Amino acid sequence: MIIDKAEVVVTSPDRNFVTLKLTTDEGHTGLGDATLNGRELAVVSYLRDHVVPLLIGRDASRIEDTWQFLYRGAYWRRGPVTMAAIAAVDMALWDIKGKAAGMPVYQLLGGASRNGLMAYGHASGKTNEELFDSIRQHQEQGYRSIRVQTGVPGLKAIYGIASQSADAGGGEARYDHEPARRGALPTEEDWDTRAYLRHIPGVFEAVRNEFGPELPLLHDAHHRLTPIQAAKLGKSLEPYDLFWLEDCTPAENQEALRLVRQHTTTPLAIGEIFNTVWDYQQVIREQLIDYVRSAVTHTGGITHLKKVLDYASQYQIKSGMHGPTDVSPVGMAAAMHLGLAIHNFGIQEYMQHGSRTNEVFQQSFTWNDGYLHPGDQAGLGVELDLDEAGRYPYEQAYLPFNRLADGTVHDW
Ligand SMILES: [Mg+2]
Repeated sequence: MIIDKAEVVVTSPDRNFVTLKLTTDEGHTGLGDATLNGRELAVVSYLRDHVVPLLIGRDASRIEDTWQFLYRGAYWRRGPVTMAAIAAVDMALWDIKGKAAGMPVYQLLGGASRNGLMAYGHASGKTNEELFDSIRQHQEQGYRSIRVQTGVPGLKAIYGIASQSADAGGGEARYDHEPARRGALPTEEDWDTRAYLRHIPGVFEAVRNEFGPELPLLHDAHHRLTPIQAAKLGKSLEPYDLFWLEDCTPAENQEALRLVRQHTTTPLAIGEIFNTVWDYQQVIREQLIDYVRSAVTHTGGITHLKKVLDYASQYQIKSGMHGPTDVSPVGMAAAMHLGLAIHNFGIQEYMQHGSRTNEVFQQSFTWNDGYLHPGDQAGLGVELDLDEAGRYPYEQAYLPFNRLADGTVHDW
């Protein structure tokens, strides 16, 4: 089973996606997601110029060896570009192995540990009324767990809120589903941490009063708080029993979460911009988090994220894999197979791709009554329609950035 063809496909149906397609001499094909939101072409070059030439002629069955070869062999380790490229190769090889074996990938990982994956969606609103409507819409779509993001009085544009900044060239895409706007420059948003901290507890009080105590609620602070601000927020949200508080501080400083943990019992999730187990070393060993947020796509593929999650399982830390629309249907399928197989699955983020994306990527997963399942097709269960993909060439797009009232750039 020799790799004799490797293609890097860039397509932009509803947004940009980078996909690696491997073909073996026996005719098996495998797909891997290499999409890095806002920096897509860097990974394209990494793959086309530096990795594809190394893959031709390799034994497609040697997944672990290929992973180690690409990680250690590059000398320059880690980082989102490198790890997204390695992830794409890894996913494609698991896809091929599954097809060669005639089994879905989750069977190769040990088989199903559950019937389906509980998934959460993103409800948002500029006001509580809009937010309540959004929560009800998500419940009608089957969601049993809801992330709550809300506008803050005095701020024009905030991460995660629908129907704002939508006029910056992004067509009809909802901002809360796709913050990366097409265009030559990133859009600017504003931020005020004190206003945010004053406003949020009242929003969760209102949501609990409206929807009751049982609905699992999540919230994303999107890396914007200092440790003591994050501690204050976690403490103030304790009465509303959050499923998790996500990315409360910038993720680079693992030690910051010690201070947050000292002050609050609100569960913490972090890691969507982490790339390797080394980024989690301290927060897992010291039990500073409750959920691992990494996507398969940005953490070196199924092979490496499974090692991260096995390490986390020693400390009763669960998965909460990143599932925004910039994780392609291939990356989402990989997450579903891994999540179905591991014991320490927690929850899966699921935002739903647009109709054009679903025509480019034919998918076997199911979504029933709040639960995802990857389906039982051999491999990952996703096929790429190259003709459809070719209709949507790459379009430059950037994530927004933040400035404070005095003009200082702040974490977005
Ligand atoms: Mg997040």
